[in-house]
Amino acid sequence: MIFTLDQIALYAKRARSTPRSISEELRGWRWNEPPVFPSSSRTLGVSDVLSTCPTGRDVFLRYVKWVRSGTEPRGSLIHETYASAVETVKRFIYEGVSDGNQLRSSMLEEFYTFMKRLDKYRDFPQYLEVGRAMWDYVSSVYSSELDRAVQRSPFLARDSLASMIVPFFVEYPVDGSLVGLNQVRVDAFIPQIPMVAEMKTGVRKKYELSLAGYALAYESNFETPVDFGLLCYVKYEGRINVRCDFKVISDRMREEFLEERDKRLEILDKEIDPGLPNFCDPHCPFLSVCGGKR
Ligand code: SF4
Repeated sequence: MIFTLDQIALYAKRARSTPRSISEELRGWRWNEPPVFPSSSRTLGVSDVLSTCPTGRDVFLRYVKWVRSGTEPRGSLIHETYASAVETVKRFIYEGVSDGNQLRSSMLEEFYTFMKRLDKYRDFPQYLEVGRAMWDYVSSVYSSELDRAVQRSPFLARDSLASMIVPFFVEYPVDGSLVGLNQVRVDAFIPQIPMVAEMKTGVRKKYELSLAGYALAYESNFETPVDFGLLCYVKYEGRINVRCDFKVISDRMREEFLEERDKRLEILDKEIDPGLPNFCDPHCPFLSVCGGKR
């Protein structure tokens, strides 16, 4: 999830040597024909399409009944810290920091300002330790990268240096309206391949479908194929561990994503309560609202 230029070069090689066959009708640029054409003029977020509720009742509660839910603290805490730390690294480079030790100590100082933003996660055990571990992880990777880059090319302009050290975009915005989605924000977008990456703190089969949602949205805008994605699992075990699975964004993933999208858009259009599933996810933020089954 914290990609370096060398890692991206390896992923590019892997992408080039990975066979894939993606049907033309499942490309985002075919947004004006089924099955990509959305069944409604309404739009949803990728996370709404892939929510943990098997019947989509959460979508009904959120957008038809306007019921508010809590957020998942662990995922949001890690995500917010990651995005902010990467942005801060870039900011320091643009401000003229050109030495790994200087970047490390500037990041450490900045953490004490940032940690006030973590107050909202205080109910989550070890929230400060987790935030600090994520922040330090980003700081450590990019401080080393900065030293290497400056050694290799000492006279780079700040903009070139920043793009070498952080060679991808965090929270990359893509307009998903042509494919029935809101403006999506891709956790990490790697333009060199191009490839999308999603960060998750738990494991669920459905998560990989978010890559299909991002690919469809990107393809609908830029008419450029996005064949690959990374599903990155982030865990705190005293320190941050990250494992990224390389995926072809296949026909099956695209079809399953579109099926879920249409199912949930229909709930919005018809305003029909889809009812409770046989079992509810114990982490569903609506458990207390609909007295879900466990
Ligand atoms: S509590 Fe159950 S039915 Fe209600 S939204 Fe969550 S998973 Fe769906």
